[in-house]
Amino acid sequence: AAKRGKSAHMAVYDPGFDAGSQKTLTLLSELRHAIGAHELRLFLQPKIDVATDMLVGAEALVRWQHPTRGMVPPGQFIPFAEDTGFVRQLTLWVFEEAARQWAALHALGLHRISVNLSTRDLLDPELPTRFDAILRRQGVPATAFCLEITESAVMNEPKRALAMLHTLAAAGFELSIDDYGEGQTSLSYLKTLPVHELKIDQIFIKQIDRDEKDATIVRSTIGLAHSLGFRAVAEGVENAAILVLLRELGCDEAQGYHLARPMPAAEMAAWARQRAGLPALAPAGAGTVA
Ligand code: C2E
Ligand code: MG
Ligand code: MG
Ligand code: MG
Repeated sequence: AAKRGKSAHMAVYDPGFDAGSQKTLTLLSELRHAIGAHELRLFLQPKIDVATDMLVGAEALVRWQHPTRGMVPPGQFIPFAEDTGFVRQLTLWVFEEAARQWAALHALGLHRISVNLSTRDLLDPELPTRFDAILRRQGVPATAFCLEITESAVMNEPKRALAMLHTLAAAGFELSIDDYGEGQTSLSYLKTLPVHELKIDQIFIKQIDRDEKDATIVRSTIGLAHSLGFRAVAEGVENAAILVLLRELGCDEAQGYHLARPMPAAEMAAWARQRAGLPALAPAGAGTVA
């Protein structure tokens, strides 16, 4: 649903807009403009290995620094970008920005950056070649990335989506089923997907320290992931008790506000250094003697 700001101009996405409406056209042209005007921001949120507490990855999450509306969260423009097809350009922008961050983060021990894909991306036959061009340009291997796909994105057109997933997996990308448990993927279908990770929807994680049924669901989902040979990842880890429970349940990786909120990509390396107990790097131009 759209949120209304103080200015009447504050048109964030309302799924009720009809495709040709003036607001829709304005928002689309603003969004197109956003890339060239450097208004998109790459945020990263750390993922840790639950058993060792080590930083292992980060999820790329986009924000839109709008000149008058302020920092717009993805929930307010991604659905719109999906409906209009603009999301394909957005995905390429996010992917390239993430690739740019890779070398610095890999040097600090990070294994991979996760990037969210939409239904449109999965149905875009150009996607693998476009990703490949970016990897070459940035000098980053496909194995540096985990691509997160929701169940509904796959189930929309299962045959074409499955073919795309196989192409991406063959190119070296890891694949993750995002928000798992929220959709209705049949288990017989799940077992055919060439994925490496099940990311359990945060709705099941948030209360496992208080809700026994949620804890049961999470325990069995971790078991399911492992028996299919996938990593189990929890998102929405909001307190220490949840993390302790996830460790007991054998969950592989965790992400959530308790560990860190999504942060501007440029801050992530400093965060990782600090967490690893490494000294902060002197800011550029601080006049360190070599
Ligand atoms: P997602 O992929 O499931 O991403 C996780 C969302 O949960 C993020 O919201 C993150 O900030 C939030 N989150 C992480 N830890 C916690 C926690 O402990 N508590 C709570 N309450 N929330 C937590 P965000 O950044 O607002 O993104 C929302 C959704 O927008 C994402 O859900 C994803 O579906 C979509 N999105 C974000 N960036 C992109 C992108 O670059 N491309 C595409 N296609 N979709 C994106
Ligand atoms: Mg995600
Ligand atoms: Mg998710
Ligand atoms: Mg989600």
